[in-house]
Amino acid sequence: MKYNFGAGPCILPQEVFKQASEAVLNFNNTGLSILEISHRAPEFEAVVDETLSLIKELLNVPEGYSVLLLQGGASLQFTMVPMNLLGEGQTAAYLDSGAWSSKAIKEAKLFGNVNVVASSKDANYTFVPKDFEIPADAAYFHCTSNNTIFGTELFNFPKTSVPIVSDMSSDILSREINVADFGIIYAGAQKNMGPAGLTLVIVKDELMGKSGRKLPSMLDYKVHADNKSLYNTPAVFSIYASLLNLRWLKAKGGVAAIEKENIEKSNALYAEIDRNPLFKGPCNVEDRSRMNVCFVMENPELEKPFLKFAQERGMVGIKGHRSVGGFRASIYNALPLSSVQALIDTMKEFAENNG
Ligand code: PLP
Repeated sequence: MKYNFGAGPCILPQEVFKQASEAVLNFNNTGLSILEISHRAPEFEAVVDETLSLIKELLNVPEGYSVLLLQGGASLQFTMVPMNLLGEGQTAAYLDSGAWSSKAIKEAKLFGNVNVVASSKDANYTFVPKDFEIPADAAYFHCTSNNTIFGTELFNFPKTSVPIVSDMSSDILSREINVADFGIIYAGAQKNMGPAGLTLVIVKDELMGKSGRKLPSMLDYKVHADNKSLYNTPAVFSIYASLLNLRWLKAKGGVAAIEKENIEKSNALYAEIDRNPLFKGPCNVEDRSRMNVCFVMENPELEKPFLKFAQERGMVGIKGHRSVGGFRASIYNALPLSSVQALIDTMKEFAENNG
């Protein structure tokens, strides 16, 4: 038995992997693979339609927003956001709460002025800054809602008249959000939605074309919105597997139901980290991520033996990111509570043997 705590790409329920693999051989009894049917065929258009409508339903996307299924990963959005929203001479406000935020900042600087309103870099990103002001004339405010590498999450978004752009790559569909509070939400699909290769973008229609810049077609939100995300060949398999996963999520009771599970899973794991004398959590308690649980050992010499002990018990992917060290258990939507319990039992057993 393997328990996959890896940070990605693509952690999906077993039943979704099974249905997706069946469609590779025979999609909906067409006798053709999902990989070979035309992306312009009515069967595939129906896949796109259902995917878009399930995203709108599960995230409660209001009128006035377009849902786009793009490629290039969240990393391309670091570029597309300023290209589409940041006009000549304008300034965008950015919150620097981790490695992905700083990559977004680097790209935005290519297109205009960037005002980093706050940063937790000096504290190795162990907290999400809360004390900052967003200038009223900023073109937009950018934040990362979940810091995948450092294990912190932004639970309260600022109240501002400036459009909020959020990179939700690692917590999209894991908790309820109010889409109307945002100008743009984007996410690489590969944590809670589907396989890598697909990027979800939810963009407020009135923001399209806002920069006044001449844009290459592939980098223009409006082109993709006008073509229902079929301007060029889309990531057909990633879209189809995402659709299967969205159906799974809906059948489970949707985002509110999975959020409850995610709270239960993360509370249980953090409780063990706080209780067990061998472990500690490096992040500010109120900012602790429900998706990526980072922890270290009081005695760093025990880290290697614990990793080996956990691997022997089927734990996969718990080594912390190379820039942080320690451990990181990614507990995305698809990871059941029983896997979290297995990790907790492993930590308990290790402490009994090494206490
Ligand atoms: N933003 C966040 C929060 C991420 O976790 C990641 C990848 O893990 C990225 C951006 C980069 O995404 P991509 O690899 O899809 O470009």
